[in-house]
Amino acid sequence: MEQCIFCQIATGQIPTNFIYQDENIVALPDIHPKAPTHILIIPKKHIPSIEELSTEDDYDLVSNMIKVAQQIAREQNINTQGYRLVFNIRSHGGQEVPHLHLHLIGGHQLGSMA
Ligand code: 5GP
Ligand code: ZN
Repeated sequence: MEQCIFCQIATGQIPTNFIYQDENIVALPDIHPKAPTHILIIPKKHIPSIEELSTEDDYDLVSNMIKVAQQIAREQNINTQGYRLVFNIRSHGGQEVPHLHLHLIGGHQLGSMA
């Protein structure tokens, strides 16, 4: 998946200052933030979207992505007032980058969902 922008970011082909990284997951600020805090949690493995999850390892990976999001929200002190976690899925879901990612959005009052 050498053309995939998130593969290039997650594997270090594009130098990035990660907020978080481990063996399987990286996190970095969204390039076009929609709130004071807008962070992307991205698995290193190329999985196109939630719709392509199949193995128990994949579901464990998503569980760990949520854990990372919770940890970052606490580090950034947005957890008490709250935040939003979003997976956009395929075209009707508004997904633009076809590599699984979790949006962590917060830092001010968010509007109601579309
Ligand atoms: P999607 O609509 O696919 O759920 O969200 C993709 C997100 O990735 C968008 O919020 C967009 O601003 C962000 N994005 C796209 N390309 C890049 C990039 O090269 N670097 C970073 N940090 N964010 C990106
Ligand atoms: Zn990818």
